[in-house]
Amino acid sequence: MQSERGITIETKRLNGNCQEDIVIAAEILKNGGLAAIPTETVYGLAADATNGAAVEQIFKAKGRPQDNPLIVHIASYEQLEQLVSEIPERAKRLMETFWPGPLTVILPKSQLVSDQVSAGLSTVAVRFPSHPVACAIIQTAGVPLAAPSANVSGSPSPTTAAHVLHDLEGKIDAVVDGGSCTVGLESTVITLAEETPVLLRPGAVTLEQLQGVLGTVKMADAVLHQLKQDEIAASPGMKYKHYAPKAKLILLEGSDAAFFHYVNTHAEEGIAALCYDGQENSLHVPAVTYGAKDCPQEQAHELFDALRKLDDLNCTLVYAKCPKSEGFSLAVYNRMIRAAGFEVRKLD
Ligand code: AMP
Ligand code: MG
Repeated sequence: MQSERGITIETKRLNGNCQEDIVIAAEILKNGGLAAIPTETVYGLAADATNGAAVEQIFKAKGRPQDNPLIVHIASYEQLEQLVSEIPERAKRLMETFWPGPLTVILPKSQLVSDQVSAGLSTVAVRFPSHPVACAIIQTAGVPLAAPSANVSGSPSPTTAAHVLHDLEGKIDAVVDGGSCTVGLESTVITLAEETPVLLRPGAVTLEQLQGVLGTVKMADAVLHQLKQDEIAASPGMKYKHYAPKAKLILLEGSDAAFFHYVNTHAEEGIAALCYDGQENSLHVPAVTYGAKDCPQEQAHELFDALRKLDDLNCTLVYAKCPKSEGFSLAVYNRMIRAAGFEVRKLD
């Protein structure tokens, strides 16, 4: 059943608030199947991280490039000890401060981690989620779970069970519905496998918070800039196109007035806008909103749903209000420049 991911299988809908359904999800995972599970960041497509054949099915179901390693999710510090070859002092400080929560830490891996999980690297990415349903499933399954976002590779990450079903119905054994994810963006990723810690992906745990605990933390170039063709990505996932709606997306950087003026003077058939709440009233094109202007947490929570809603507008070009790029907003900005294929226009 699990070996032919192209063939339609029945995707069970399970309820994260129901203990019996948690047990069913855990059984599926223990038996080498795939289940999408809610976490506080986005929905993850989980498989037993110690079962290479099960992990391979994740790549098939998502259409994920084989060289892009997976994050392993744990629900105890004993599981962490099994996965890594050492836990340096600075890792412990990060974990004490931010775990359980939306921070992934990369460390040298142990033998237990299958090559499929680490995509041949000598390191492993580990996260202890805070979502009670994710933790209950990991504990009941009794194994760490490899889980990338539960979407088709390239599309916006799923923040509801409906998003998961839209992308993966018929390709996975189950989805556990835990409502909409509170953070709404994937975890912050930091590597401690180098001398100086490097932020590989911004998320709800900010660069400033990491620096508060560790002192110097570098930011990988790929967080803000497109990698050049022959450049090696510190994190393989950063070289792929991501989060893109069907229409072409262009970010417009500048004041609100300049944004309204630009969009309204380009208000032709097929044009749409992605803007903050309330701004749609000043625009003469169909618009989707992504949260309040001064609340990056709300923008993070709504962005992926908004990118999916754009697909329903049947537009060909979307002008998006560019968010700020510091503090928590860096995570929102990082996802939006990728969705836009790095096309940013300065207006004033
Ligand atoms: P996803 O699980 O789809 O949200 O993506 C996980 C991200 O973490 C991707 O960008 C991966 O390339 C990155 N990642 C996972 N494991 C490692 C690792 N061992 N070293 C560097 N990056 C990693
Ligand atoms: Mg992903």
